[in-house]
Amino acid sequence: MEILYDYPLYRPPSEANSIIFQITLGCSFNKCSFCNMYRTKEYVERPWEEIKSEIDLAANAYPEAQRIFLADGDALNVATDKLIQILVYLYAKFRNLKRISCYAMPKNILQKKDDELDKLRAAGLSMLYVGIETGNDALLKKVTKGATSKGIIQSCQRAKQHGYILSCMIILGLGGKTYTKEHIRDTDRIISEIAPDYLGALTLYLEDGIYNEFMIKFGEPFTALDDIEVLEELERLILDFNPVTPVIFRANHASNVYSFGGTIPQDKQKLLSLISELKLRPEMLKPKILRRF
Ligand code: SF4
Repeated sequence: MEILYDYPLYRPPSEANSIIFQITLGCSFNKCSFCNMYRTKEYVERPWEEIKSEIDLAANAYPEAQRIFLADGDALNVATDKLIQILVYLYAKFRNLKRISCYAMPKNILQKKDDELDKLRAAGLSMLYVGIETGNDALLKKVTKGATSKGIIQSCQRAKQHGYILSCMIILGLGGKTYTKEHIRDTDRIISEIAPDYLGALTLYLEDGIYNEFMIKFGEPFTALDDIEVLEELERLILDFNPVTPVIFRANHASNVYSFGGTIPQDKQKLLSLISELKLRPEMLKPKILRRF
């Protein structure tokens, strides 16, 4: 017997070895114009009995599991009491469990009261993955993110203040050629202020199902960056990224032109040298056919 997942199923690259439980299906927002992940799904919170029986099943098969990821798109949207019930049961069934994580939208965090965030943290929810995409408010609106830069900063700072490990994602190329300067300038501003524990950079990759919607919502002609321009965005992003505490940086997602990794600020120069080399030797970049969102 194994867990019968409701596909498509997504998890961050760093959760590759985690057990995944779908406590929700889909995304409660599901409107970001660049995101095709859950367009085929209606948002549903799964009943406790179904979740419990999958936990029992997995606990028998993998009793030594140390990491669990709660899917789908924004499991933090679930009511605090139910989430605590799930967390408590997971720690009871997996004795070596060290980390439980999930995706969270800025609004999911802002909607939880301080004591709810504390209770969830105390019950063992340890890490949140937050897609911030860009720090530019005009772009956030154009891609219908449903968040402002102010709300993103507030939500991420609250997550950190309440003791969560915070992993944020941004999207290179999101503003196309027209807004590349504003996108990176404002993204640097908010990621420097937030200083998440981890920062992942993805690259815009518009799948067929959402291409037209993205273009319409953008509201003006959109010209995608070429690979060299994506490298230039990354270069500017790293150059002006000045977090108050060190940030583990990765651009190793399937959508990226190359796989980058390091810690900011100490590896800044190493990353910038690599980008300079790649700009001169584009044949080293990942073939386009291997890239996806
Ligand atoms: S980016 Fe996140 S919040 Fe936006 S639609 Fe996709 S899963 Fe939902």
